[in-house]
Amino acid sequence: MTSSITRTEVTDEVVAAVRRFVERDVIPIAGELEHRDEYPHALVARMKELGLFGATIPVEFGGLGLDVTTYARIVEELSRGWMSLSGVLNTHLMVAYLLREYGTTEQKQRYLPAMARGDHRGALCLTEPHAGSDVQRIRTTAVRRGDVYVLNGSKMFITNARTATIYAIAAKTDPQANPPYKGISVILGEKGPGLSVSRDIHKLGYKGIETCEVHLEDYQVPAANLLGGSEGRGFLQVMSGLEVGRVNIAARAVGVATAAFEQAIRYAQQRETFGKPIAQHQAIQLKLADMATKIQAARLLTYHAAEKKDRGERADLEAGMAKLFASETCLEVATEAMRVLGGYGYTAEFPVERYFRDAPLMIIGEGTNEIQRLVIARQLLERHKI
Ligand SMILES: Cc1cc2nc3c(=O)[nH]c(=O)nc-3n(C[C@H](O)[C@H](O)[C@H](O)COP(=O)(O)OP(=O)(O)OC[C@H]3O[C@@H](n4cnc5c(N)ncnc54)[C@H](O)[C@@H]3O)c2cc1C
Repeated sequence: MTSSITRTEVTDEVVAAVRRFVERDVIPIAGELEHRDEYPHALVARMKELGLFGATIPVEFGGLGLDVTTYARIVEELSRGWMSLSGVLNTHLMVAYLLREYGTTEQKQRYLPAMARGDHRGALCLTEPHAGSDVQRIRTTAVRRGDVYVLNGSKMFITNARTATIYAIAAKTDPQANPPYKGISVILGEKGPGLSVSRDIHKLGYKGIETCEVHLEDYQVPAANLLGGSEGRGFLQVMSGLEVGRVNIAARAVGVATAAFEQAIRYAQQRETFGKPIAQHQAIQLKLADMATKIQAARLLTYHAAEKKDRGERADLEAGMAKLFASETCLEVATEAMRVLGGYGYTAEFPVERYFRDAPLMIIGEGTNEIQRLVIARQLLERHKI
């Protein structure tokens, strides 16, 4: 009992520290950096000091050893200030998760301590120009030649591609495998000859951090960098990592939606029409009630999925539901907040237009919502088989 209270206090303190950081350092400058599409070096340095790059990395490797639920709360706080900051952490901690769950002892010892400090930063390279949802169609190959793998191919939409120093790359080690997923492996690569960032992708929102195309040309990686040491396991490894990624996206959506709601309810009490604050018009009150209710439902779904993952249980159904509901809620709440602010909601003078541009990423990232529905339905049919 005593130790669980202590643990709760510790996690509450970490979340409170992130909230203070967001209130004091992030919110005052996020809009400006975002409009200039400028990388937030100082904020990322502070996140490093707070230990956030090691949030879910076990204590034995120098991380904070936080559970997924606490991580979700941290992501929510960061995204309430600026969603891009949680993007800096997401694929980094997904790579750390893959290492922790599937890496060999040598791979864990080599990478996790430096990743926990934020000295090594991770990027996850799955998507290719012609294959996103259909991961099995990737064409990047990794051919074993003696002590090295030689990789060739192209990876698209890679978040953190420029700032990363370690890349978890999904590649075909057996392009003829049937079914194709059995031919996919994850190779851990570092910056070096043959790996280049070929272009930056310009985006509607999610600005300030880079999303790039990465080109691999005769890129050589030591054979010892095959994740887990066995070929053909990459697809299943990545799918299990995506459960954490989906909780992250759901938590981001809750954070952005919360910021939009807070802006709307503040504005509604200041702006007057027809002799009273618009918050006194029932049409506006109905919006505020629906926004807050849906955000709370999204938050609870997110925590529920995170808690299931923390118990070591399969959580693809719950993570899929949380990601689906939270991201659709975020899109709806951002639009409703814009309506509450009227013409001002459409201007760069209020952050609502940023929330409105950031929200759609959550319906696409870590598997589109169409794919979430397929994942959910597949699980439901399995559970309700007659
Ligand atoms: C800003 C940003 C950052 C990203 N960061 C990363 C990253 O760091 N690493 C990485 O690997 N990837 C990253 N991605 C890629 C992202 O995961 C993919 O964009 C996403 O998985 C969708 O793939 P796609 O764009 O190829 O769309 P497609 O797979 O081509 O899908 C196009 C449309 O068809 C629908 N669709 C596809 N298949 C089905 C089906 N079976 N049934 C019904 N509808 C279907 C989709 O839902 C979508 O509406 C990022 C993307 C963005 C925009």
